[in-house]
Amino acid sequence: MARPLGPVRLKKTNPLTLLLGAVLCIFIIYFLLGPSAPDFSPSRKAAAASHPLSPPTSPFRKQSTSSGVKPKPPPVTHYNLNNVTITANPVENRENVLVLTPMARFYQEYWDNLLKLTYPHELITLGFILPKNKEGNAATTELQKQIAKTQKHGPEKDRFKSIIILRQDFDPPLPSQEESERHKMQNQKARRAAMSKARNSLLFTTLGPATSWVLWLDADIIETPPTLIQDLAKHDKPLVAPNCYQRYYNAEKKAMDERPYDFNNWQDSPTALELAGKMGPDDILLEGYADMATYRALMAYMYEEGADDHLEVPLDGVGGTALLVKADVHRDGAMFPAFPFYHLIETEGFAKMAKRLGWQATGLPNYKVYHFNE
Ligand code: GDP
Ligand code: MN
Repeated sequence: MARPLGPVRLKKTNPLTLLLGAVLCIFIIYFLLGPSAPDFSPSRKAAAASHPLSPPTSPFRKQSTSSGVKPKPPPVTHYNLNNVTITANPVENRENVLVLTPMARFYQEYWDNLLKLTYPHELITLGFILPKNKEGNAATTELQKQIAKTQKHGPEKDRFKSIIILRQDFDPPLPSQEESERHKMQNQKARRAAMSKARNSLLFTTLGPATSWVLWLDADIIETPPTLIQDLAKHDKPLVAPNCYQRYYNAEKKAMDERPYDFNNWQDSPTALELAGKMGPDDILLEGYADMATYRALMAYMYEEGADDHLEVPLDGVGGTALLVKADVHRDGAMFPAFPFYHLIETEGFAKMAKRLGWQATGLPNYKVYHFNE
């Protein structure tokens, strides 16, 4: 009886050669038959659309007549939005958070604070929009420097899932970002309309099917608790706003002190509603201006020392300095009106629109974040 030849011959072959051969075979088969073999040729790459919170998609291509090879049809991806959880335990449930920041100026303290957030960075996507002017260019350069430092050279745990930078396609309405110019009452409508458009562009280009939460965080928020995202999410509210304060040097007390900053977190008052009732269709109500006393209850003044950090109050208007929003609120269509909506615009109009969609805003008067002091 003759012994089969094969096994004998194999035994004599160097196992390394065999392994190399096998790897080569797998490689060839993969490239010939692979159902979605990646194609990184420059032309393909340039034309492919991708979103950090969804898989890359390739565009439809006309059948090439010269090669005779039928191109693969563009992929169809299904998402069951009811599988994207939005819960009070977002870390456990691995929920994606989109941090959105309109940025006219870059503050190192903002970036440092962002890096200190303990929410798993691999679940955080950052989105920025910067104006296309000299200040915006300078801020973009500085932002990119920090991004490179963190994403390329920093420790793995500091690195974010993905980062998107948008440059505005319209001119800022005010020539200057100076505090005095920004806060003039006659500048408010144009300024806040431009801010609305910037926020909407940022939101609509970055919100993905896998986003659970959107954290709006202004570029001049320089101090928050490191557990900000978890703390706010724990409330399980559609919109939740911490109280935005500002540290400053109190010359009278000759010591550091703090004062309320964001007056856009408020509860409506009969006076404000009456004022709005008498307004023309294009007029807007503004908060924090002596010429227009609204008698709204401002969350900025509801802070109580030593009281429960997690005390909740209902809000009718919100600011955007720091605001955690369930992505479903935006997906339902709530955005930042750049036009008077119930005589409200931007973030305050957003709270109203969310409310009309059935989502109530909540404020945390005793949970503080801090705005830069110019
Ligand atoms: P304030 O704190 O209420 O006076 O508002 P800010 O002027 O600080 O604006 C709110 C946020 O929007 C900050 O993060 C700014 O850096 C940013 N910002 C201000 N103006 C513009 C603008 O024209 N375009 C963009 N993209 N961001 C802006
Ligand atoms: Mn600000």
